[in-house]
Amino acid sequence: MVGPFGNAGLVVIVEDGRRVMRSPATPTLSVREVILRRAIAEPFNVVLHGPVPTLEAIYHGARVEAAPGRQWPVVEVVDRSDDPPGGGLLTERTKTAIRWTTAARERTFVLVGSRGYAPAFRCVACGDVRRCLTCRSAASRDDTCRRCGAGLDACANCNGAQFQPLGAGIGRIVDDLGQLVGDEVGRVGDEKLVTVGSERDLIGIRNIGLAVAVDVDGFTMAPHYRAAEDALRLLVRLAQTVQRGAGHRCLVQTSAPNQEVIEALVKGRSEPFLGRELTSRKEFGFPPAGSLIAIEADKAHDPESLLSEGLMAVATILGPVPVRDRIRWLIQGRDLERARLALRPILTTLRGRGARVRVDVDPIDL
Ligand SMILES: [Zn+2]
Ligand SMILES: [Zn+2]
Repeated sequence: MVGPFGNAGLVVIVEDGRRVMRSPATPTLSVREVILRRAIAEPFNVVLHGPVPTLEAIYHGARVEAAPGRQWPVVEVVDRSDDPPGGGLLTERTKTAIRWTTAARERTFVLVGSRGYAPAFRCVACGDVRRCLTCRSAASRDDTCRRCGAGLDACANCNGAQFQPLGAGIGRIVDDLGQLVGDEVGRVGDEKLVTVGSERDLIGIRNIGLAVAVDVDGFTMAPHYRAAEDALRLLVRLAQTVQRGAGHRCLVQTSAPNQEVIEALVKGRSEPFLGRELTSRKEFGFPPAGSLIAIEADKAHDPESLLSEGLMAVATILGPVPVRDRIRWLIQGRDLERARLALRPILTTLRGRGARVRVDVDPIDL
């Protein structure tokens, strides 16, 4: 994952919070973790560089140096909270901005959510994001929570029973924009004035006249505990694609303009937001202040009784969630060292019974 450094005295990691900086497979080690371990052994100094420090770095005592004033370019919020349900994907204000930018022969980048990640859902009637009352995660359209397996009811706010996914795919936005700017819209690589893409396309985008995030809530309220922090970092990267100069803008559309991540985005500083985020992670036992362990076993070897017997006193146990032919339990707590110790004999017992058991520490998508 990380090559030899020779006799480096200093290693700089640029934007260690990006998703690609973490291996998705077990064990889910990040580039930062690997380099920090080697920094102790070899040794050398490490600088983490980026506009939004990661909570992991702050929690583990990194010294944060930030310039005074705004840390990224100006972001304008397009408030959709009063839009009627079922409205179009782009507001009139956003469409006007795209039309003007295109008429001026300047480039627009439109950011949509990535495929492959579980989306959040909102109530069709009142627009509230559906949440699991047991584990607080944003929930899907199903009858059970994909994270903790608890049953899901109608909308907690209005009792509505219909839900729609937040955000839209690239194809749909390209079609919509075709009606606005004709042949001037395409995907990354199409060399059009208006480009629609997702997070992975941001890397090559710069000197943009107008940047648009279609549905910020799809990022900030995604169903995993790091959603808001990841969203802030992503939207700051979007704002940074905009070229300095008059008339150049970054527009973010949201139905919840009062959420803390939007406030931070507008103010241009991340510290107050990250401080509150860390407090809430501590309170609920989420990484980096706490830890998560996911355990998957064959259906025939459900470890429920073993887990509740051995771990109930030291951690919160969430589940079961069916995952194909297996079941998954999630163990969550502020100090999982004791849980890890208690887990060892349980795993030995299960494997002794012939169970195939998979253990994932701090899974990034739960
Ligand atoms: Zn509702
Ligand atoms: Zn849940």
